[in-house]
Amino acid sequence: MTPKDVIKMAQENKAVMVNFKFLDFPGIWQHFAVPIAELKEEIFEEGLGFDGSSIRGWQAIHTSDMLIIPDPTTAFMDPFMEYPTISLICNVVDPITKEFYSRDPRYIAQKAEAYLKSTGIGDTAYFGPEAEFFIFDGIRFDQNAHSGYYFIDSVEGIWNSGREENPNLGYKPRHKEGYFPVPPTDSLVNLRTEMVMEMQKVGIYVEREHHEVATAGQAEIDMRFDSLVRMSDKNMLFKYIIKNVARRHGKTVTFMPKPLFGDNGSGMHCHQSIWKGGKPLFAGNGYAGLSELALYYIGGILKHAKALAAITNPTTNSYKRLTPGFEAPVNLAYSARNRSASIRIPTYSASPKAKRIEVRFPDPSCNTYLAFSAMLMAGLDGIENKIHPGEPLDKDIYELGPEELASVPTMPGSLEEALDHLEEDHEFLMKGNVFTEDAIETWINYKRTREVDALRLRPHPYEFFLYYDI
Ligand code: GLU
Ligand code: MG
Ligand code: MG
Repeated sequence: MTPKDVIKMAQENKAVMVNFKFLDFPGIWQHFAVPIAELKEEIFEEGLGFDGSSIRGWQAIHTSDMLIIPDPTTAFMDPFMEYPTISLICNVVDPITKEFYSRDPRYIAQKAEAYLKSTGIGDTAYFGPEAEFFIFDGIRFDQNAHSGYYFIDSVEGIWNSGREENPNLGYKPRHKEGYFPVPPTDSLVNLRTEMVMEMQKVGIYVEREHHEVATAGQAEIDMRFDSLVRMSDKNMLFKYIIKNVARRHGKTVTFMPKPLFGDNGSGMHCHQSIWKGGKPLFAGNGYAGLSELALYYIGGILKHAKALAAITNPTTNSYKRLTPGFEAPVNLAYSARNRSASIRIPTYSASPKAKRIEVRFPDPSCNTYLAFSAMLMAGLDGIENKIHPGEPLDKDIYELGPEELASVPTMPGSLEEALDHLEEDHEFLMKGNVFTEDAIETWINYKRTREVDALRLRPHPYEFFLYYDI
């Protein structure tokens, strides 16, 4: 798509508005719109101004003027606007230097792709995220709550939530048995189908959808893999569609990793591989059909995993998911068979083209532009420095005895801990200026003050349960 094609697409669809979408630092789409008369070829060169001072994690007030430059290849007709609207995903630019903004996650991802090419190792990194999420009927904030259950309304989870369904028609998923009986137990299939239909309309290739394990309304929709930036763009569109289709039906969706205490959380396993000249580089004769290069890539991810966690598992809530017993990984190990390992090598297909690794610790609260870039940089560091990942762990990690387990490193236990690791270990992210020191410092500072400290300073509902009558 060129700027001319975008204008043609707008005309053909009788668009009356143009909507510009770009990312804040944590990874939420921001937007503004202009009437269609403003859609000219120049804006793809010159950009459009906006005030960047109120965007989370961005410019201070004295340097607030920013530009967005729309990417013509990202145009789509926005399914959720009442008036025909064409939408474009944008990069952010400093109006004085005309340089791309170093804290724009999309630019960081573009630099990660460029860095891969510059190493000569490969030309394309593919990512396939499997984002899980919850669909609820609503949320209530109950000060007396002593478990997450009382925060949600869900007809599907009515046996656990405080919500009344009158009469109770039964057929609710049993605890941890959401995966995956047919309707009427699965009451969300039509909603998920509508999400898939909307995705297909805007060019997302969906491979599968299903209910997930958790009792109340957990879902998964899997998109076909794509290259790093394109997959991240699609992931933004994916979340936008899922949230807005749910809203259309008076429901609400969350991608927070652990909304329910005592039930499975939502992960976002990330399948990934590197290719060069149309050839897959992860297939070979090593363990589970992997190449030596792929093993080094795994070595890099495992070596930097504790620091990566601050980007791939970037919320305080992320660490409530990474606990044993809920299919989420805790230990830093790899295995072909073992789903309790944080890196799995899928062996469904013998085709070299399908050879990939599945990194299981990330969750869908992450900003995928940053998370994919950071994992790629860790993997490349592994390849460049020939970091061997050691022996695979083919036993069920949940069943290991304490002595065996003691030798297996674990994911950080909190966001605070992960941020400390990132502070210590981020050289690998700065190669090729992919993540600047400023971007990393801003991230750590933002997460510490706005999330870790903010939560630490507030009385928690569970403290009332524990201590009110002390
Ligand atoms: N919900 C699990 C997690 O938190 C993953 C379940 C699965 O294997 O798909 O990672
Ligand atoms: Mg799943
Ligand atoms: Mg998976």
